[in-house]
Amino acid sequence: MTRREFVRSVGVASAVPGAFMQNDQSPNAANEVQLSQIHGPSEQDEKAPGPFLPTKRRIGYAIVGLGRLSLDQILPAFAVSQYCTPVALVSGDRTKALKIADQYGIDAAGVYGYDSFERLAENPRVDVVYVVLPNGLHAEYVTRAAKIKKHVLCEKPMAVSSQEARTMIRSCKAAGVKLMIAYRQQYEPNNKALRQSIANGALGKVHGFVSSNSQQQGDPTQWRLNLKLAGGGCLPDVGLYCLNAARFLSGEEPSEVSATIWQPRDDPRFTQVEASCSFTLKFPSGLIASCSTSYDVHKSQFLRIEGDQAWAELSPAFAYHGNKLRYSKLQGDMETETAPQIGEKNQFALEMDHFAECILEKKEPHTPGEEGLRDHVIMEAIYQAAHSRKSVVLEA
Ligand code: NDP
Repeated sequence: MTRREFVRSVGVASAVPGAFMQNDQSPNAANEVQLSQIHGPSEQDEKAPGPFLPTKRRIGYAIVGLGRLSLDQILPAFAVSQYCTPVALVSGDRTKALKIADQYGIDAAGVYGYDSFERLAENPRVDVVYVVLPNGLHAEYVTRAAKIKKHVLCEKPMAVSSQEARTMIRSCKAAGVKLMIAYRQQYEPNNKALRQSIANGALGKVHGFVSSNSQQQGDPTQWRLNLKLAGGGCLPDVGLYCLNAARFLSGEEPSEVSATIWQPRDDPRFTQVEASCSFTLKFPSGLIASCSTSYDVHKSQFLRIEGDQAWAELSPAFAYHGNKLRYSKLQGDMETETAPQIGEKNQFALEMDHFAECILEKKEPHTPGEEGLRDHVIMEAIYQAAHSRKSVVLEA
């Protein structure tokens, strides 16, 4: 009997043990809910979400910093997470935090301030501290979380320097806790499918990568334009996506970088950080990645990766929703484009669930601190190349 026939014969909801948590003492720790199938056999199989862990057994997250990303993306993502639940909030604005706690069913006792952060140690429901603060505060809060023996998920960019990134890795290792950097695009289905197809040789030998990630910044007083809190301008914030995608999709590390930076003198937004940056990464295989990023153009985000047999494009490439993948290659005497329909999934739920699995199954995360450190080393080389107007060779 096929899965579809089984579900049809049973009718509506039935629970079956999930594959996840096979080593758990209770085989019913994870449950999958099946929905009845209503479409005919010519239609795609309908999949119910799951398996899900019961709330009390989920990995508990403390969200630190209730700004745009936490409120717009991270907290709503728990609704579709399989293994995680929000159990605590840390904020400098208690009134806001209490309102948000109420919305997500978090008890007022689970609301903390930055000065009472260490009290998270006494909250047994908190397994993970998710640092969603301005970049310049990541190192401090990751180190504080490690000291109270909580696992840490830290937003990108990991820090404001490779030196800070190294300290963060050391602190987590010394405390015996896991550290993951939230590179959501590495968990996003289109980016993952593209990486897999490149590894399978779908494009032939890959020689070219072109990518841009840019947006228009407004308020000159925001932390993103403050060097101490941001660590740089568009490069560490949005240009990082192009850099990380070039490494992730090629599976290679660059050996040399060159770069140009633009910081206008007469724009109050860019007194401390760059407005635009263009950089080129040379890889040992001969792949050349040309990337550009700006805080002073209309939102634009795409990538194209070119092999000797075909090319692939993601446009948008780094969006929260609606990333689109297409391939182009010669078939017969026709240049033919194909666009696989890859089901959309919530990237934040996917990355939080991945970290939960790592904790439950005692595995190392796919994007550990070392992944963030590598990007900081390369970004420092990009700044050095731009300021010296000379290419910089990277150590292997
Ligand atoms: P916001 O400015 O919207 O929020 C940051 C929050 O941090 C504030 O609301 C505040 O929360 C807290 N905070 C504490 N100290 C300060 C301070 N000195 N200045 C400003 N805020 C402070 O930023 P985002 O949410 O957009 O970004 C947060 C992090 O997430 C950054 O590292 C960013 O790079 C990353 N990010 C990642 C994205 C992704 O797709 N992965 C997308 C967007 C951002 P409170 O009032 O609760 O104290």
